[in-house]
Amino acid sequence: MMQTLNDQKLLRLIRYAPVVIIGVVTLVISLVLIKGNQARSEARLEALRSEVIEIQKETIRQHVNRVIQEIDYHRALAEGQLKRQAKMRVDEAHAIATNIYSQNAHLPEDVVTEMIADALRPIRFFDGRGYFFVFKMDGINVIHGLKPEIEGNSGWEAKDSRGTSILQEHIRLIAESGEAFYRWWYSKPGYPKDQEFEKIGYGKYFAPYDWFIGTGEYVDDVESDIQQHLLDWVTSYQYGDDGYVFVLDEEGKLLAHPHREYLSQPLSLIQFGGGQDIWERFQAAAPQGGFVEYQLIFTDDRQKLSYIAQIEEWGWTIGTGFYLDDFERYLDVKREEVAMLQRQEWMRLTLAIGSLAFAMIAFSLLLSMQVSRRFGRFQEKIAAHFNQLVQTRDQLQQIAQKDVLTNLPNRLMLTETIQQGIEEGREKGLHLAVVFVDLDNFKRINDIFGHSTGDELLVAVSERFDFLLEDDDLVARFGGDEFVFCFPNLKSFQAAERKIRRIKRVFDTPFKVGGRLVTTGCSVGASMFPADSDSAEVLIRNADIVLYKSKAAQRKGEVFFYSAAINEEVQYAFQMQEQLKQAIERNELFVLYQPQVDAAANEIVGVEVLARWENSKLGFVPPDKFISAAEEAGIIHQIGMWVFRRACEDVLSISPNGENALKLSVNISPAQLNEAEFATDMLAVINEVGIDIDRLVLEITENILIHDLTEVAPMLHSLRHLGFGISLDDFGTGYSSLSYLNTLPITEIKIDRCFVDKLLVSDQSDSLIKAILAIGAASDFSVVAEGVETKSQYVKLKSYGCHFVQGFYFDKPLSLELLQARLEKTVSYPAL
Ligand code: C2E
Ligand code: MG
Ligand code: MG
Repeated sequence: MMQTLNDQKLLRLIRYAPVVIIGVVTLVISLVLIKGNQARSEARLEALRSEVIEIQKETIRQHVNRVIQEIDYHRALAEGQLKRQAKMRVDEAHAIATNIYSQNAHLPEDVVTEMIADALRPIRFFDGRGYFFVFKMDGINVIHGLKPEIEGNSGWEAKDSRGTSILQEHIRLIAESGEAFYRWWYSKPGYPKDQEFEKIGYGKYFAPYDWFIGTGEYVDDVESDIQQHLLDWVTSYQYGDDGYVFVLDEEGKLLAHPHREYLSQPLSLIQFGGGQDIWERFQAAAPQGGFVEYQLIFTDDRQKLSYIAQIEEWGWTIGTGFYLDDFERYLDVKREEVAMLQRQEWMRLTLAIGSLAFAMIAFSLLLSMQVSRRFGRFQEKIAAHFNQLVQTRDQLQQIAQKDVLTNLPNRLMLTETIQQGIEEGREKGLHLAVVFVDLDNFKRINDIFGHSTGDELLVAVSERFDFLLEDDDLVARFGGDEFVFCFPNLKSFQAAERKIRRIKRVFDTPFKVGGRLVTTGCSVGASMFPADSDSAEVLIRNADIVLYKSKAAQRKGEVFFYSAAINEEVQYAFQMQEQLKQAIERNELFVLYQPQVDAAANEIVGVEVLARWENSKLGFVPPDKFISAAEEAGIIHQIGMWVFRRACEDVLSISPNGENALKLSVNISPAQLNEAEFATDMLAVINEVGIDIDRLVLEITENILIHDLTEVAPMLHSLRHLGFGISLDDFGTGYSSLSYLNTLPITEIKIDRCFVDKLLVSDQSDSLIKAILAIGAASDFSVVAEGVETKSQYVKLKSYGCHFVQGFYFDKPLSLELLQARLEKTVSYPAL
């Protein structure tokens, strides 16, 4: 069972362990990958962050540079434009003057001059600031669009604030090549006198009157146009979602900004968080171009990173920036995107690992299932084989525990049941009886009717026995014709006795076997727990001992319970049998001869052979005892033959065959008569020894003879036929029926000594003896009176006509030597 349990665990392990291992490994790998992935994403995000910041920074730097380029370009363009326009205007004025002159050349110079002056004087350009002036090459002003009052005056000596003689220089350049650009510094209307502004001018020589026509423009006026134009442009400059460029003047006032309300405001009025001096930081960064990070309070403390540069010529500081939180927001979006990507990647990864794991798990599951299934099959096979074995074992056990013929439990199961009953009895304080039952005459039934009938009888008996059983009772076939009952849980000996009587009553009704009715009986022996033993084996043995004793008691039908005395008795009997088996070879047996006397002649005519046994352990054992022991031990034949041979030899040695030869009476046990070879063996001895057969008388006990009459009758006849005399021993103790006497080949009757004993005191004995003697006289058999001890007995027997007597009165059983002496009359007869 333990084994199976372990196997099942192992089976589960085989089935699920790989799956669990793969699952765990997959999980670990996934975690590691995901962790790595997360770290990578984090790094990527960080990289992205700095990258995006860099890009953004680059973007704003480019925007600033672009604005600066634009401004530079327009600034450079302004001067050229100015010059071009100035020249264009002067060329127009020159054309006008030339035209007027050519149409009026016939008119005097002053008239023509006035006509030209009228034409040129009102012309304005450059947003109304521009006008023409005409000088004679000697410095006399001819026409002045702005100040006609100085016409006619010489401007030859006029110098600008930097000491340059403006007109002289001017005229010199024009005289060289007919036309020229020039620069000078000059005051400006609406501005203090001492403040001068740079001007660019152009002049062209007018040959008819030795003039030059010129014009000029304040450079800064043009530039401020351009500046205003550029600032407008910058203000509306936009990029990205809300990118703008701001411009500050050299005092830090805002010149361009999408929030127009801040324009002309100093930076300090725009609040910055943390009390930063932004202007200073702008100024520090501007010359080389640099980034400044700061907080703008009016945008809710948003952190801004700006690129600051400058246009030195105009003293402008230009910048643009971006809100870092915008960027963070952007980054958040990016992060979200990355997270999304990551999630997708995870999903892909999870899917990949999952499907891989699934495939592996499925594969390993398949594999382990296969293995476990095979394992299971093996296990099943083993279990099946095991079950088969168990079944076979059970069957064997059953076979081992059941008797094949009667189907009753056999002795194996009996022992177990008894042992269990003992345990139970011990707990409950109850008795248990073991009853040994042996069928009477079973051997004979077997011999006469055949073994199959014997078997049938056993089956029939066992069925009746089985029918007797109550509750926990059990009957087992112990072997042969032996049965053993186990009666557990008995309250008393009486209960056991009642049950035993019921067993005996089973045999009151004959058994119908082999087509005939058979009557039989049984012998019973019982032992009890706890009185006799608490071991099943001992109880059975004790019951067997009682049975033995019961059988020995000659089927008196008495129930015997085990007792120490019986045990001792039976033990003694067993011991006797054991010793007896070696009696012949140990030379412990010997024979005595009791003479039989012819009453009339007062002569010894014969002797009865009486066996004697003296054992070293048991001492002298009476023949009654050892003869029956030999019968039970199955050695009566050997002992009988030994006695017979010895007697024949002895008697022949002292009394040769012939007319006066002594008769020899030999006691024969019925067991010997059952021996098929008996007659042959006896003849062989007779022939070997050489004694005449008609000297020999075989004494057979009446009691036993009558009992086994039918069986022994044929043997008796053949023995008689061979020539043996047949003597009916112990006559009167048996059935005392004379009816069979005619059917048997009897040659002699021996009146038992109990009658002789009571001859003088009992009329019954007296009349019996008389009757026997009368029959003997009428028939052809002789009568011997045994146990004659007194003279009066002898006299009475003699008076009744008894021919032969035997007894202590004449002789006790004698050794051969004494017998010989008796025969030779060296020993005297009792006085008659
Ligand atoms: P049994 O055949 O009746 O033998 C006669 C018995 O009576 C003998 O006893 C004998 O000693 C005894 N006896 C003879 N005269 C007197 C007497 O005056 N008074 C008394 N009280 N007893 C007397 P034993 O030798 O003890 O033999 C007993 C029985 O043993 C015999 O009875 C016989 O049946 C049997 N037996 C003896 N030897 C053999 C033998 O070799 N073979 C067989 N099968 N049985 C034997
Ligand atoms: Mg006898
Ligand atoms: Mg006798």
